[in-house]
Amino acid sequence: MSHSTKNEINLKDSNQAAEEKDSQPAANDGTGENGSTSEMTIEPSSKAGKPAEVATNASVEAPASQSSSTSSVSAADTMPSKFKINDRLVSWGFTKSSGRSIDTIIIHSSYNAVGSDVHDLDDIINKEYKPNGVSPHYIISRDGKIYRLVADQNIAYHAGVSKVPDGRKNVNDFSIGIEIVETQSESPSSAQYSSLKSLISYLKDKYKIKYVLGHSDIAPDRKDDPWNFSWSKIK
Ligand SMILES: [Zn+2]
Repeated sequence: MSHSTKNEINLKDSNQAAEEKDSQPAANDGTGENGSTSEMTIEPSSKAGKPAEVATNASVEAPASQSSSTSSVSAADTMPSKFKINDRLVSWGFTKSSGRSIDTIIIHSSYNAVGSDVHDLDDIINKEYKPNGVSPHYIISRDGKIYRLVADQNIAYHAGVSKVPDGRKNVNDFSIGIEIVETQSESPSSAQYSSLKSLISYLKDKYKIKYVLGHSDIAPDRKDDPWNFSWSKIK
């Protein structure tokens, strides 16, 4: 997240709240902070070796069957047993959707620029995302915990003006946004890399993912996150 334009998360300049929402309608229609009841915590280790599943009321695409090295084994076999998604659903920063096609994962960086602790998740969510009306689908805290802020099927505002390599724009519409908590002078922690790799694996098992890209890949003239990111660590 660097300089902000529209429908994206911005941490450097929190004075652009009005721009962030762009023309997207507000979606504060009942999904409270404590979450919709259709979501459940994912604990593959308790599911007898089956891939984690999330209850949603929307259909999803068949699991990827492409060349990925994880495609021939279940998600549970490839993920650390500690893999867990903690629901912390927010009521802003997305448009409700059902049955959208998800084929892209966008990785971002976020930090707390308004408080004393740059890694403070509450501040990032409540003092930066909320006032700007933006949110990623997931955020991975410094200690590697994965939090889900927006259900996969909803269109979260994280990417802004952007384009994937095949030319499609409005990347929010078909992507999942994942934030890594780090400052521009830091790199992701090993715990974050590990959790991110697991989360990507989990998403690839649920959706036919075509791209896993950084924000800087889809908005290169505006964005430089994820910062100090080593792509080889999530291969
Ligand atoms: Zn970003």
